[in-house]
Amino acid sequence: MIDTTRITEPCPYCGEPETNIAIRPSRKGGHTAQCPTCGARSGNGNTPAEAITAWNRRF
Ligand SMILES: [Zn+2]
Repeated sequence: MIDTTRITEPCPYCGEPETNIAIRPSRKGGHTAQCPTCGARSGNGNTPAEAITAWNRRF
């Protein structure tokens, strides 16, 4: 079962632990998950949960 409400994947670029990935408002009016160390971001989501899903799916 996939938990879509939590970041489950670490950053693929710098290895930042998934617990440190932050959800931020995006300029498009939605939300995006972003690595605080290297700045890698997920796709845009309308809600924080969607941003998390995008991060987990992308990586
Ligand atoms: Zn990173």
